[in-house]
Amino acid sequence: MRKLAAGNWKMNGSVEDLDEVTALIAAHPAPGCEMLLCPPATLLSRMAERAAGSSLMVGGQDCHAKTSGAHTGDVSAQMLKDAGATHVILGHSERRADHGESDISVRAKTIAAQAAGLTVIVCIGETEAQRNAGDTLAVIGRQLEGSLPTSLTTAPDGLVIAYEPVWAIGTGRTPTLQEVGEVHGFIRATLTKRYGEAANGLRLLYGGSVKASNAAAIFAVPHVNGALVGGASLKAADFGPIVLALAVS
Ligand code: PEP
Repeated sequence: MRKLAAGNWKMNGSVEDLDEVTALIAAHPAPGCEMLLCPPATLLSRMAERAAGSSLMVGGQDCHAKTSGAHTGDVSAQMLKDAGATHVILGHSERRADHGESDISVRAKTIAAQAAGLTVIVCIGETEAQRNAGDTLAVIGRQLEGSLPTSLTTAPDGLVIAYEPVWAIGTGRTPTLQEVGEVHGFIRATLTKRYGEAANGLRLLYGGSVKASNAAAIFAVPHVNGALVGGASLKAADFGPIVLALAVS
């Protein structure tokens, strides 16, 4: 299985920041794992142009479930593909919180994006209150059940799950390695029940305050097949060491 280091630029970045992309590619011409950056939609095609011919892939941060039509402000999966995307992040906790995205809408978007030929990174994760109440695995189970297609219609590498505890995103706090292992083991077992043996080929990413100093330890946890990185993906000097740690893990 090819491990995946994915960066989520969120609502950050302008044309001049594309120099970070050039620097990342120059520093990691053959990274030894898959390397992906997901910029805001405004930068997608220009980032794809910078990445052309390199091993860096680019992706979107959301898409609409429909292919086209009267949906002001939205972008379809086909449009992301047309702009040069190979991947899309769906169901990020910030979209679930800011835009009221439900598991049902994440599933509809996932099906649409896969139909457009994009690899989908579906995000799930518990809030701090849910963890403190001992509900983490129940929440993760419900999100998996509701957000994913009922059958695996693509090759396993077309669907990626990112476990991102909401309380760890952008806070500098992370679960213990044991907690990461418990949730990733649970996700793998749940996916195997649902999809059978093919679930062994699905990549499971950890996301939430990953940085150079904690990446190697997180990547050594069983069933962690990569990372979804927010803040530390904005600068090549921060993201590069995470990519390297994954490549050698
Ligand atoms: C994210 O937004 O997906 C994320 C993991 O952010 P950060 O790495 O900044 O915690």
